[in-house]
Amino acid sequence: MIPGVRLILLGRQGAGKGTQCVRLSRHYVVPHISTGDILRAAVKEGTDLGLKAKEIMDEGGLVPDDIMIGIVAERIAKPDARSRGFILDGFPRTVPQAEALDEITAEQPIDVVVDLEVPRELVLQRLAARRVCQDCGTNYTATGREKMPWFCDVCGGDVVQRTDDTEEAINRRLDLYESQTRPLIEYYDKGGLLEVVDGTGSPDEVTPRVVAAIDGRPRVPVP
Ligand code: ADP
Repeated sequence: MIPGVRLILLGRQGAGKGTQCVRLSRHYVVPHISTGDILRAAVKEGTDLGLKAKEIMDEGGLVPDDIMIGIVAERIAKPDARSRGFILDGFPRTVPQAEALDEITAEQPIDVVVDLEVPRELVLQRLAARRVCQDCGTNYTATGREKMPWFCDVCGGDVVQRTDDTEEAINRRLDLYESQTRPLIEYYDKGGLLEVVDGTGSPDEVTPRVVAAIDGRPRVPVP
């Protein structure tokens, strides 16, 4: 395994991006940059950004492109991302975000874009059972047999359902995925960067598929 990669992970809500990103980030020794996590941290801290984003996120809408582009440009300019690379999770989500990312990464271009494919019916089931640690963001799947209150195995924080994992907000996010984010698959396919990976099955089954897709492609060595 060669450390370092500049990777984008695309896929529907509930496709398993967050879970795979934690593993890939350890495997390739690069930071996992999740725009959803960055926004949730801002909401928790009550910053200006958080106040603006909370309502949009709870309704399942998209935060304006210019705000998101600014956040990501700032994050990938940091030394860890510049020297080792990064995994982008949740960005880009629209064609204007992808075009802006091309400009931001002109000197150190993206190596590969993985599209984690999971059918809509299956992600709906996964999202209904999704629970998350309020403090560290670790994801869990509810079986209905958990002891309540439910504490995180990793940090001891409260495990809850995300406020935007209501049926209405989930359906809105999935519709927005089809209309705004799916065009990126064609965008990156045309650019010769796309790898489509089957995201069905357990996380342990999916990880080696993603790693094989990444390792099968040429990567610009990290300096
Ligand atoms: P999900 O993939 O389940 O929608 P995320 O954690 O990736 O969850 O994002 C949560 C919310 O944060 C999104 O519904 C959206 O409101 C906002 N968000 C995250 N990334 C972006 C982005 N790149 N552009 C616009 N909004 C975003």
